[in-house]
Amino acid sequence: MHGEQEKRAQVEAAWEEHRAQAGVLRRTWLEAHLKAQDGRCAYCRDEIRLSPDGDATLDHCIPQAKGGPDTFANSVAACALCNLAKADLLPDEFALTMLDRRAAIIETREKKARHVEGYPAHLRAMSKAARKRLWSGPE
Ligand SMILES: [Zn+2]
Repeated sequence: MHGEQEKRAQVEAAWEEHRAQAGVLRRTWLEAHLKAQDGRCAYCRDEIRLSPDGDATLDHCIPQAKGGPDTFANSVAACALCNLAKADLLPDEFALTMLDRRAAIIETREKKARHVEGYPAHLRAMSKAARKRLWSGPE
C-alpha cells in the first residue's frame, strides 16, 4: 500500500511538471497572439489583458475536441467570455451564435471593422459570409 502511494505521488509530480511546462509554453503563445491582435479578443475585439490583471485566454480555433491541433497556429487570444461561449464550436459556427449577441456588440462594430485587416490567418480563413454576419450591424 505504501509503495502504491509513493508511485501515485511520483506520477502526480510528473504530471505537475508536465502541466507547468505546458503552461509556460501557452503563456508564450498567448503573449504573442495578444501582441499580434492589438491586445484585443480575436472574437469580440474587446481589450483584454493577461492574468493576473486580465482575463485573456488561449482559444483553440479548431477545437481540440474536433481534432484541432494544440499549436500556436491553431490558437488565438480570446476573452474568457468568448472562449466560454465558443466552447467546441468551429469559427463559422461561433460566428452564427454571435448573431444572438450582436445587439451587445453593435456599438463597437466600427472599431471591429477597422481591425479586420489585422485578423490572424485562421480568422481570415473564416468564410466572408460568416465574417459579414459577425461584424455587420442590423440590416
Ligand atoms: Zn471576446
